[in-house]
Amino acid sequence: MIHIIGAGLAGSEAAWQLASRGHEVRISEMRPTWTTPAHTTARAAEMVCSNSFKSDDPDSATGILKAEMRRMDSLILRCAEAARVPAGNSLAVDRDAFSEAVTSTLKGHPRIHWDVTRIESPEPGIPTILATGPLTAEPLAEWLADITGSDRLHFYDAIAPIVERDSVDMDIAWMAARYDKGGADFINCPMDQPQYERFLDALLTAERVPLHEVDTPYFEACLPIEVMADRGRETLRHGPMKPMGLDNPRTGRWAHAVVQLRQDTLAGDLFNLVGFQTRLKWGAQKEVFRLIPGLEKAEFARLGSIHRNTYIQAPKVLDATLAVKSVPGLWIAGQLSGVEGYLESAAGGLAAGFAVDRAMRSLAPLPFPADTVLGSLLHYLAHAASADFGPTNAMLGLLPPLPEGLLDLRGLKRAGGTRAVKSAKGRAHRERALQSLEEHLR
Ligand code: FAD
Repeated sequence: MIHIIGAGLAGSEAAWQLASRGHEVRISEMRPTWTTPAHTTARAAEMVCSNSFKSDDPDSATGILKAEMRRMDSLILRCAEAARVPAGNSLAVDRDAFSEAVTSTLKGHPRIHWDVTRIESPEPGIPTILATGPLTAEPLAEWLADITGSDRLHFYDAIAPIVERDSVDMDIAWMAARYDKGGADFINCPMDQPQYERFLDALLTAERVPLHEVDTPYFEACLPIEVMADRGRETLRHGPMKPMGLDNPRTGRWAHAVVQLRQDTLAGDLFNLVGFQTRLKWGAQKEVFRLIPGLEKAEFARLGSIHRNTYIQAPKVLDATLAVKSVPGLWIAGQLSGVEGYLESAAGGLAAGFAVDRAMRSLAPLPFPADTVLGSLLHYLAHAASADFGPTNAMLGLLPPLPEGLLDLRGLKRAGGTRAVKSAKGRAHRERALQSLEEHLR
């Protein structure tokens, strides 16, 4: 029997991978008897904030990671693709349909035994995958700090609000995707310059939930909207509120700034504000976000909030198969291991499943090749400079460089500019990654 603690994105995938290879699995999940500050259901693989598994562009890092996971029969990816909602070239899902599909698959599997328990520490002598996520409940988090030598770190992650579609004024907003890529899937709320300045003033002066540990950093790729605004009055126009590529059908022009809303449910009745994760107080959120043209009468199905997000000092603690170096028979997967994101967490669960399967068959540990996107993430966890270690998303920059001379970069640039260079590099990384993965799986 293999014990998996936590039925989140990572734990669910690990359980599936192991059960599919014939192992008996016990999965201990504390919800619904206990819960975290961000989860709201009793389901496996609950997505606590956005409903997106990021870009589906086949030559992006997340596109390649998805291809790798698909090749390895990822349950998370299969259920996500079945619960897809329109979102341009991203894989966004109906979060309830998605996590319901994961839950019923796991609970219906004859080799997966589910118990509702809040685990305080893993049972010695039983191979265990710890996948309790960024909101790991005490006293397990304390236990983890002890065995990892208190090398546990944290940052803050915020959640974006969700609004009811019927409450959006579509005489002002319109449906479109940026540069018309992938269908008219997003609701777009346009702002002229005075509206933008007024919104910014309100955002900058609105009341925020105080943080007790003020020096604790945020995750750079997912900053609260008001923290981005603190960095300069133009920052939002070059970030989540960029107007480029969105022709307003009423003016025929790009607006000064645009707020985009992404579909959150298959029924299309709820939409989330893209990039609007926030730690404003709830009352302030309603006031400030109703200044957005089209959202004056918005009804909020969920408001934003902020949570501590815990991870370990992976380079000191883990090897490149996610095994804890100081505790034989223990693996750590998901966000807790130092990856960031739903997709990356699920990929980590898949890798931990593979690693434990090998250990159960008395085979030597075999890391995924570093030129696959999954392998590059795990390589980073095991080998990053530990002094400034921080959680990472999948990105092409983590992969080893392509062989010199493989691409005619000058020719590509002349013919198609930096965009052509970027996609040719992505394509080459993809081909190399998928070939390496095939060899690895053989
Ligand atoms: P989780 O999915 O959190 O799963 C861990 C599971 O362990 C949970 O079900 C929990 O109930 C259970 N558990 C915890 N402690 C115990 C215990 N002691 N005993 C038994 N069970 C336990 N990523 C994105 O890609 N997009 C986002 O928009 C995004 N927003 C985020 C917002 C917040 C507030 C936070 C905290 C994180 C966010 N993340 C986001 C990051 C991350 O991708 C998700 O948290 C993801 O769910 C991590 O997957 P996981 O499997 O590691 O952990």
